[in-house]
Amino acid sequence: MKRALFPFLILSMLSLAGCMQADADQTLAAELAIGKTAIVIHGGAGTILKANMTDETEAAYRAKLEEALRAGHVILEEGGASLDAVIAAVQIMEESELFNAGKGAVFTSEGTNELDAAIMDGATRNSGAVAGLKRVKSPIALARVVMEKSPHVMMIGMGAETYAEDNNLEMVENSYFYTERRFRSLQRALEREAEASSSLPFDASVQYDLPLSPNGDKFGTVGAVALDADGNIAAGTSTGGMTNKKFGRVGDVPVIGAGTYADNRTAGISATGHGEYFIRGVVAYDIASRMDYAGEDLNTAADAVVMDKLGELGGTGGIVALDRTGAIAMPFNTEGMYRGYIDVDGNMEILIYGPGDE
Ligand code: ASP
Repeated sequence: MKRALFPFLILSMLSLAGCMQADADQTLAAELAIGKTAIVIHGGAGTILKANMTDETEAAYRAKLEEALRAGHVILEEGGASLDAVIAAVQIMEESELFNAGKGAVFTSEGTNELDAAIMDGATRNSGAVAGLKRVKSPIALARVVMEKSPHVMMIGMGAETYAEDNNLEMVENSYFYTERRFRSLQRALEREAEASSSLPFDASVQYDLPLSPNGDKFGTVGAVALDADGNIAAGTSTGGMTNKKFGRVGDVPVIGAGTYADNRTAGISATGHGEYFIRGVVAYDIASRMDYAGEDLNTAADAVVMDKLGELGGTGGIVALDRTGAIAMPFNTEGMYRGYIDVDGNMEILIYGPGDE
């Protein structure tokens, strides 16, 4: 009798344990948004005011942001990886002249375009970053190749371009990135710089903080963060940098932890703004670290870093971020930021201006 009962008892216990495990898995999955997908993007932050925007321009920005969001989201919905979704969304914005990334990138003080990009895989914390590119059509694509095929994290300039050619990436002439709008921005910035320096008393010991470009289009970097059905987060950012930057200047975008970061345990983050301050504040990693060490939720951490700490340093800009539960944060301390998301429930929202200006 006892012998006959024993296997039955064991089986019952196993199935009870199995049920408890299944319940626990379901709770965890619900909490972590496993099986659900989300994507958040930005197209740059800056002096973006409704009063300065025509209906036509606003519609063009909204349409492109929606196209980028949907391109990433469809990949996620079909079970694709967050890395693929990030690349798809970023490439749509790189190819659009509306944004300061890829075609439409801003100019250096020398009248050239030098592009930076980075991508990070939150599952492995592997990452790829590229800087100072003049001939690679899609910097974000090269960042991914550096991450997946090279033993390195960051490559710059000619070496990065040679690596792109060796990996059959599409190459273009530097003139491909030219747009009249961005060239005029450079002319205006150079004029302002000349005026500012001629009105300053000469003192070689003083480091004059001349404006890179104080007009509304100084930013315009693009970025995306995605959460796939397997619970993996990826983040990517691509930029032309800042108008009138010195040639050779590298911003925050390809500095892992400054403008781009992803870790499944905390969040994926992509930034836009005055890069020097994002590097000094290690902004993206600071947000993830507050979540990791202090147990803050995404929005608390992102607000503290962008609205308090970055501002105290004198930095302007914003970030978009997504955590493993699918929560989304999009704080910025400028007048506006091109931004949008499709959340875990499939709701889409596209925003441009700051609070009270929408
Ligand atoms: N963060 C970029 C840079 O400093 C500029 C931007 O976001 O528009 O290179």
